[in-house]
Amino acid sequence: MAPKNKTHPLQPGSTIGIMGGGQLGRMTALAAGKLGYRCHIFCPDANSPAAEVSAAVTVAPYADMDALKTFGEAVDVVTFEFENIPHESVQLLTEHAVVRPGWRSLAVAQDRLVEKDFINDIAPTTPYRRVESAAELEAAATEIGKPAVLKTARMGYDGKGQVLIAPDCDYAAAWAEMGAKVGILEAFVKLEREISVIVARSPGGGWATYPPVENRHVNHILDTTIAPAVLPTEMAADAIRIAHEIADGLDLVGLLAVEMFVTRDGELLVNEIAPRPHNSGHWTMDACPTSQFEQFVRAVCGLPLGDVTPHHDAEMKNLIGSAVNGWADLMSDAGAHLHLYGKREVRDGRKMGHVNRLYPRGHWK
Ligand code: AMP
Repeated sequence: MAPKNKTHPLQPGSTIGIMGGGQLGRMTALAAGKLGYRCHIFCPDANSPAAEVSAAVTVAPYADMDALKTFGEAVDVVTFEFENIPHESVQLLTEHAVVRPGWRSLAVAQDRLVEKDFINDIAPTTPYRRVESAAELEAAATEIGKPAVLKTARMGYDGKGQVLIAPDCDYAAAWAEMGAKVGILEAFVKLEREISVIVARSPGGGWATYPPVENRHVNHILDTTIAPAVLPTEMAADAIRIAHEIADGLDLVGLLAVEMFVTRDGELLVNEIAPRPHNSGHWTMDACPTSQFEQFVRAVCGLPLGDVTPHHDAEMKNLIGSAVNGWADLMSDAGAHLHLYGKREVRDGRKMGHVNRLYPRGHWK
């Protein structure tokens, strides 16, 4: 059966199917509601943050072909707030609905080796090697040097599945700790700072690009975003150009976040990409005319992209784990724009909400 094609543009009142039920889906559904759309969440967990604010939910594993077929028939477009969906599932969805971003964006983003190979044709990354055993790890570490970082090729996020390969490394132990069949060994980058760029790309190839931001991590998890990043003009332009070229190369429709390292030598290296809204874009909810979530909805529905010019500088701070217990104080702080994700259980390292603070333009300079 040919996919439905109601997306020129998708009429308000139509249903956006979202694969994944986390906070990114929740904030997308809230933005979609503002524009008159309904959202239908597909997620394996009951009580997901996204389902709580959506019109419909399918609770099923991502590989449940019957549930996917019914879901694909029920919605007008399918998108993703989580890219680690099996290939066969995405394939099946494309038979029933328009899928944005396309399969290629997801395939590239869900495997760090495929991702780094793809990016290297466009922009530099840190040197890396594919490794499939402790012996290959040792050989690769000898080649690219230490320290290095061993990561799982697939299913890694927020530093999960990452092991630092120190000069006195026990390779067998490091391999066992990483815990996957295929890994990627990356040369350790001497960071000056980390930045990201979020671009929206519409079905016709039109652009809207938020300014580069600086991201500060604690324990490999994003802690604070400073918007905009204070960068030399040329470096900011380079970062934006790289993000555009990657999105064009993927023929992506939707949002693309590109995470980059600024090295101590002033070089820009791409770390990873995410073809969806991104934690480093949460500041846009209060500091830009169009938030990243509304922009995402606009792009996947084929609507004109919105204005991305910030009206304020901003600082976004994640509320991770028990930090969310400070919510009452934040509610009574007039300068704190609080966003909570409705997660019932507080766990260490779990993103529970975030706070945006606004400053006059030029504040960070
Ligand atoms: P990732 O899951 O690849 O985004 O990694 C999480 C964080 O770990 C990054 O934001 C960096 O702070 C750090 N990191 C990852 N890869 C490297 C690397 N090759 N060199 C130095 N730091 C890294």
